[in-house]
Order: sequence, then C-alpha cells, then structure tokens
Amino acid sequence: MEDNPTLAQGLYDKLVGIGYAVDLFHDGEDGNSVLKYQQYDLLILDLGLPNIDGMDILKNLRNQQNKIPVLIISARDKLDQKILGLESGADDYLCKPFDLDEVVARVSALLRRSSQDGQSFITLNSLEFDSSTRTLARDGKRIELSHRELSVFEYLLSNADTVVSKSNIVDHIASFDDDMTSTAIETYISRLRKKLGNDVSLKTVRGLGYILNTKV
Ligand code: CA
Repeated sequence: MEDNPTLAQGLYDKLVGIGYAVDLFHDGEDGNSVLKYQQYDLLILDLGLPNIDGMDILKNLRNQQNKIPVLIISARDKLDQKILGLESGADDYLCKPFDLDEVVARVSALLRRSSQDGQSFITLNSLEFDSSTRTLARDGKRIELSHRELSVFEYLLSNADTVVSKSNIVDHIASFDDDMTSTAIETYISRLRKKLGNDVSLKTVRGLGYILNTKV
C-alpha cells in the first residue's frame, strides 16, 4: 500500500520481476477492506495514505490478531515514528528514500522468518532449497525453476503435509490482474514433479488438490 504512483510502481515492478505475486493499493481504505478477506504473506505499508492512515491499518490488523508480517515504508523518519510503528506491531521499518534492493532484502528476510522459523536451508533428501536466495539444487547442481514454478513450490513447501487446493494456489501466487486458470496450476505441478523427481512426494488428492510430503 503506497499512494505515490511512481514509488508504488517501482516496488511493484521490482517484486514482480523477481517472481512475487503483488497486489497494489494506493488508497488506505481499499487496502484495508481487501485485507479482511484476502490472505497475504506480507504487507508493505506506507504510513501516509489517503482515507485510512497506515498506522491505523496496522493497529486494526493487530487488534484482529492478524499476524501478517508488516514492513513499514515511510518518510516519517523521526525516531519516535519508528518506535511507534514497531510498538504498534510492525515487523520492520524502512525510511524513504530507500534502495529497492534493500526492500527486497527486508521482504525476503521477513518471509523467511515467518514461514520456516528463520531456517534458510531446507533439505529434502538429495535436494536442497535455499529460501533466502530462492534456489533449488540437487547434489550441489542448480535446478532451474520458472518464477511461477518457484512460487508454487514455495507455497506447497510452506504447507507441507497439508492438502492445498488449486484455488488456494491461484490465490496465493497470482495477483488480482493475473488471469490464472487451474489448468495452468496443473501444468506447473507436472513440471515440478519432473524437476523434483523422487526426492519429494507431490501427490494429487482427487477432488481436493495436492499434497507435498517432505519425508519420502
Ligand atoms: Ca504516502
């Protein structure tokens, strides 16, 4: 959520470019209402937003026990604002102006912290996944995954041993303006199966979705 169009677009392009699914909101009220029904992995939140202030959005989230990681980006660079933000339940704080690469580093650290208890390397038999660089390797040799395949894999991995539906996956990896079908998901799954081989069990649960088991 960022109301400055240039900055918002810059962040969007950067994050989408490295494979994240991103929804962009320029208005506090729009963003606040979508957060009530749509689940996200992370919120990048500007404080000075039209209609609802970023700090109020953050307080609402925490009052509702919503634990989504929040990275505040704000020009309010005074120390008291930073402290207030962190006390209100923000996970991290970046003062404008900032470097886009810095945002990416903070985003990836926050996602790692929330999804795998801060664990960066995950070993799946002869596969090794480095969640900080988002790279998958077998016996030290890198396995190339497309952005989408990577997003699906990360989602299945963060829900390991749980059945996830195709619509869960679509919700998770696609932005609002993406037109993604469940057939596309089937394609990503089938490509992933080939690449993951026998190191991971990725089963279809008829009528329900998919389940990834890390112990095979
Ligand atoms: Ca603003």
